[in-house]
Amino acid sequence: MILFDIGYSWGICVAEKVKRTENEWKEALTKDQFIVLRQKGTEAPFTGKYYDNKENGIYFCAACGQELFSSDSKFDSGTGWPSFTEPNQQENVVLKEDNSHGMKRTEVLCSSCGGHLGHVFDDGPAPTGERFCMNSISLDFKKKE
Ligand code: FE
Repeated sequence: MILFDIGYSWGICVAEKVKRTENEWKEALTKDQFIVLRQKGTEAPFTGKYYDNKENGIYFCAACGQELFSSDSKFDSGTGWPSFTEPNQQENVVLKEDNSHGMKRTEVLCSSCGGHLGHVFDDGPAPTGERFCMNSISLDFKKKE
Protein backbone atom coordinates (compact mmCIF):
# COMPACT_ATOMS: atom_id res chain seq x y z
CA MET A 1 0.00 0.00 0.00
CA ILE A 2 1.14 3.49 -0.81
CA LEU A 3 0.89 6.04 1.97
CA PHE A 4 1.24 9.77 1.90
CA ASP A 5 0.51 12.81 4.01
CA ILE A 6 2.28 11.43 7.03
CA GLY A 7 2.05 13.46 10.19
CA TYR A 8 3.34 12.70 13.65
CA SER A 9 1.47 12.59 16.91
CA TRP A 10 3.40 13.28 20.04
CA GLY A 11 1.70 11.85 23.05
CA ILE A 12 -1.91 11.10 23.69
CA CYS A 13 -4.73 13.63 23.49
CA VAL A 14 -7.93 11.77 24.26
CA ALA A 15 -9.18 9.78 27.22
CA GLU A 16 -8.44 6.28 26.04
CA LYS A 17 -9.59 3.04 27.56
CA VAL A 18 -6.98 0.99 25.72
CA LYS A 19 -3.57 2.30 26.68
CA ARG A 20 -0.39 1.15 25.02
CA THR A 21 2.98 2.77 24.51
CA GLU A 22 3.90 3.64 20.95
CA ASN A 23 6.40 0.76 21.00
CA GLU A 24 3.64 -1.63 22.03
CA TRP A 25 1.44 -0.32 19.20
CA LYS A 26 4.31 -0.84 16.79
CA GLU A 27 4.38 -4.49 17.83
CA ALA A 28 0.60 -4.93 17.70
CA LEU A 29 -0.07 -3.26 14.34
CA THR A 30 1.25 -3.75 10.84
CA LYS A 31 3.69 -1.12 9.60
CA ASP A 32 1.04 0.60 7.46
CA GLN A 33 -1.56 0.44 10.24
CA PHE A 34 0.93 2.05 12.62
CA ILE A 35 1.60 4.88 10.17
CA VAL A 36 -2.11 5.68 9.86
CA LEU A 37 -3.48 4.83 13.31
CA ARG A 38 -0.62 6.16 15.43
CA GLN A 39 1.17 8.64 13.18
CA LYS A 40 -1.94 10.06 11.47
CA GLY A 41 -0.96 9.08 7.96
CA THR A 42 -3.52 8.76 5.18
CA GLU A 43 -3.83 5.82 2.81
CA ALA A 44 -3.85 6.72 -0.87
CA PRO A 45 -7.40 6.96 -2.29
CA PHE A 46 -8.87 3.93 -4.10
CA THR A 47 -6.25 1.64 -2.54
CA GLY A 48 -7.99 0.61 0.70
CA LYS A 49 -10.04 -2.53 1.06
CA TYR A 50 -13.36 -0.90 2.06
CA TYR A 51 -14.01 2.19 -0.08
CA ASP A 52 -16.11 0.10 -2.49
CA ASN A 53 -17.44 -2.39 0.07
CA LYS A 54 -21.23 -2.60 -0.19
CA GLU A 55 -21.82 -5.52 2.16
CA ASN A 56 -23.97 -5.23 5.26
CA GLY A 57 -22.10 -5.30 8.52
CA ILE A 58 -20.19 -3.40 11.14
CA TYR A 59 -16.85 -1.62 10.94
CA PHE A 60 -14.71 -2.00 14.07
CA CYS A 61 -11.50 -0.22 15.07
CA ALA A 62 -8.61 -2.20 13.58
CA ALA A 63 -6.45 -1.37 16.61
CA CYS A 64 -8.72 -2.08 19.59
CA GLY A 65 -11.91 -3.66 18.21
CA GLN A 66 -14.35 -0.96 19.29
CA GLU A 67 -17.50 -0.77 17.15
CA LEU A 68 -17.33 2.39 15.00
CA PHE A 69 -19.59 2.44 11.93
CA SER A 70 -22.49 0.52 10.45
CA SER A 71 -22.88 -0.19 6.74
CA ASP A 72 -26.30 1.50 7.11
CA SER A 73 -24.60 4.90 7.24
CA LYS A 74 -22.05 4.16 4.50
CA PHE A 75 -22.37 5.98 1.19
CA ASP A 76 -20.42 6.23 -2.04
CA SER A 77 -18.60 9.56 -1.74
CA GLY A 78 -16.50 9.03 -4.85
CA THR A 79 -13.41 10.05 -2.89
CA GLY A 80 -11.79 6.61 -2.77
CA TRP A 81 -12.12 6.35 1.01
CA PRO A 82 -14.90 4.61 2.92
CA SER A 83 -17.38 7.32 3.89
CA PHE A 84 -20.16 7.40 6.47
CA THR A 85 -22.81 9.92 7.50
CA GLU A 86 -22.38 9.14 11.20
CA PRO A 87 -20.64 6.83 13.66
CA ASN A 88 -22.59 3.98 15.17
CA GLN A 89 -22.50 5.75 18.51
CA GLN A 90 -21.26 9.31 18.97
CA GLU A 91 -19.29 8.39 22.07
CA ASN A 92 -17.24 5.84 20.15
CA VAL A 93 -15.37 8.57 18.30
CA VAL A 94 -13.58 11.71 19.44
CA LEU A 95 -13.37 14.78 17.21
CA LYS A 96 -10.33 17.02 17.35
CA GLU A 97 -9.38 20.21 15.54
CA ASP A 98 -6.55 19.54 13.09
CA ASN A 99 -4.65 22.45 11.55
CA SER A 100 -1.84 20.38 10.04
CA HIS A 101 -0.74 20.61 6.40
CA GLY A 102 -2.12 24.16 6.07
CA MET A 103 -5.72 22.94 6.29
CA LYS A 104 -8.44 23.40 8.86
CA ARG A 105 -9.94 19.98 9.36
CA THR A 106 -11.61 17.91 12.04
CA GLU A 107 -9.79 14.73 12.91
CA VAL A 108 -11.72 11.61 13.94
CA LEU A 109 -10.18 9.32 16.55
CA CYS A 110 -11.33 6.09 18.16
CA SER A 111 -12.47 7.00 21.70
CA SER A 112 -11.21 3.72 23.08
CA CYS A 113 -7.61 3.60 21.88
CA GLY A 114 -7.01 7.09 20.47
CA GLY A 115 -6.25 5.64 17.03
CA HIS A 116 -6.47 8.01 14.06
CA LEU A 117 -9.38 7.02 11.81
CA GLY A 118 -9.68 9.91 9.36
CA HIS A 119 -11.48 13.26 9.16
CA VAL A 120 -15.06 14.51 9.15
CA PHE A 121 -16.34 17.13 6.69
CA ASP A 122 -19.67 18.97 6.52
CA ASP A 123 -20.38 18.19 2.85
CA GLY A 124 -22.05 14.82 3.37
CA PRO A 125 -25.54 13.72 2.34
CA ALA A 126 -28.73 13.58 4.45
CA PRO A 127 -29.63 12.83 7.14
CA THR A 128 -26.60 14.33 8.93
CA GLY A 129 -24.89 16.32 6.17
CA GLU A 130 -21.62 14.96 7.47
CA ARG A 131 -19.00 12.93 5.68
CA PHE A 132 -16.83 10.76 7.90
CA CYS A 133 -13.92 10.10 5.56
CA MET A 134 -12.10 7.08 6.95
CA ASN A 135 -8.99 5.09 6.20
CA SER A 136 -9.82 1.46 5.37
CA ILE A 137 -6.70 0.36 7.17
CA SER A 138 -8.01 1.78 10.46
CA LEU A 139 -11.16 -0.33 10.14
CA ASP A 140 -11.99 -4.01 10.48
CA PHE A 141 -15.23 -5.05 8.75
CA LYS A 142 -17.39 -7.88 9.97
CA LYS A 143 -20.20 -9.01 7.71
CA LYS A 144 -23.71 -9.34 9.15
CA GLU A 145 -24.91 -12.90 8.87
FE1 FE B 1 -9.64 1.87 18.76
